[in-house]
Amino acid sequence: MKVTFSSILKIIYDHYILFIGSIIGIVVTTLWRVFGSDKVLGFVVILKNFLLNPYVAWCVVLIIILITIITRIFSKKHSASIYFATYPPQYKIAEGKPIELFAVTWKPWLGHNNIGDTEKDAEVWANGPYCPRCDYELDVNYKADKWICVNCNKKYSIPKEIQDDPREKVIKILEASRRKTKIT
Ligand SMILES: [Zn+2]
Repeated sequence: MKVTFSSILKIIYDHYILFIGSIIGIVVTTLWRVFGSDKVLGFVVILKNFLLNPYVAWCVVLIIILITIITRIFSKKHSASIYFATYPPQYKIAEGKPIELFAVTWKPWLGHNNIGDTEKDAEVWANGPYCPRCDYELDVNYKADKWICVNCNKKYSIPKEIQDDPREKVIKILEASRRKTKIT
């Protein structure tokens, strides 16, 4: 497995209970050493009384339920694109020629996320879409499924099969042609 910043984040995320437990352990031990057991125990008693207050307990329960619901909604929305880059690479390596796909213009480029990466690790990204007539970076009207150029007052409909995530589809097309030609 390649060690990258995101793989380290993933390890932390997978074992977050262990990490939180260790941090709490270190903090409690340090406080114990610095302030002595009486003060730490006194604080624990205050904390216990605070948490056992029925109003506080209900608030905590409500907050936990809310966080659970929000994370569920969030993970469902993004579950399909978990393994897909949703952010542009940090460092640009090369820029491609603008390309017209789905009737609008995209500006592809190659980049990478880690300083040691070679061109082999490079990822494709596409800026855009831009208006093919005037190069205005198009606005999106998701309700009408249209890209809009306010500069020349033109609308471009977003094809149904790419409405989910147009940029992802464009990048996948570019990656496919990159694999086939082995150029760029
Ligand atoms: Zn335009």
